[in-house]
Amino acid sequence: MPHDSDLQCLGPHLHTLCAHNPSPMTGTGTQSYFIGQHELLLVDPGPDLPDQCARLLQAIAALDGRLCGIVLTHLHRDHAPAARALHASTGAPIYAMPATPADSLQLQDLPLQALHDGQLLATDGGDLRTVHTPGHVDNHCCFWWESGGDLLTGDHLITGSTVVIIPPYGHMGRYMDSLERLSHWPIRRLLPGHGAPMRDAQAVIAATLAHRRARAAKVLAQLRPESEALASLLTRVYDDAPTHLHALAALSLQAHLLQLQEEGLAEESASGWRLTASSR
Ligand SMILES: [Zn+2]
Repeated sequence: MPHDSDLQCLGPHLHTLCAHNPSPMTGTGTQSYFIGQHELLLVDPGPDLPDQCARLLQAIAALDGRLCGIVLTHLHRDHAPAARALHASTGAPIYAMPATPADSLQLQDLPLQALHDGQLLATDGGDLRTVHTPGHVDNHCCFWWESGGDLLTGDHLITGSTVVIIPPYGHMGRYMDSLERLSHWPIRRLLPGHGAPMRDAQAVIAATLAHRRARAAKVLAQLRPESEALASLLTRVYDDAPTHLHALAALSLQAHLLQLQEEGLAEESASGWRLTASSR
């Protein structure tokens, strides 16, 4: 058994390590996951912190493992940067969907092997299947570990809060579609990029879909025929959220408004957002 007290066993051939990066955006910190007995895949190595690569190498040693691949759910800085040092130390390839060049929040220059939907990645504890789940960002993937019944969800589903949808590289409609797609899978447990594992996976997915639909309905109900600045609309639509989260909520509100615009229900003007004539 591993001796590193930071490394947590979640079941046979499955371990997790929490990075030292707690924040409003990352919750208790970023969770990295090791899948396999000795031939290991690591999902989301985490941020570029001074101790992060050493902690991951220590975990690999504690598992008596060899790193076969570094797998990224997406390229945000709380999930991906430690891949660089780990790749340099171990030679393990880095798998991810390619970066969106215009998105400054994504790491652009990692030496990636490009993933595609459905791609299988092997471990000696069972394969991981790549599941493209656009929404938080459009090049986000979850990973389905069928032999464990676990879905590694990155920032698609996190524990204790809803994820931020970040337009224009994230998209509310595609986020909902990605959730719907997962709602038919025999998932036993969700392993999020932030927070503890979530049992009763389908109840979580159903609740998340319902929450997003309720929020979209609230946005529509609060929109007025006259244009209104997003910041002003935000205080009514997110009156249930603490104000220190409003900067993040503004991104998701923008994503909801863009979705309503695509549906012909909302429109943007120079002074803000309003209902379309046909939806009044
Ligand atoms: Zn993210």
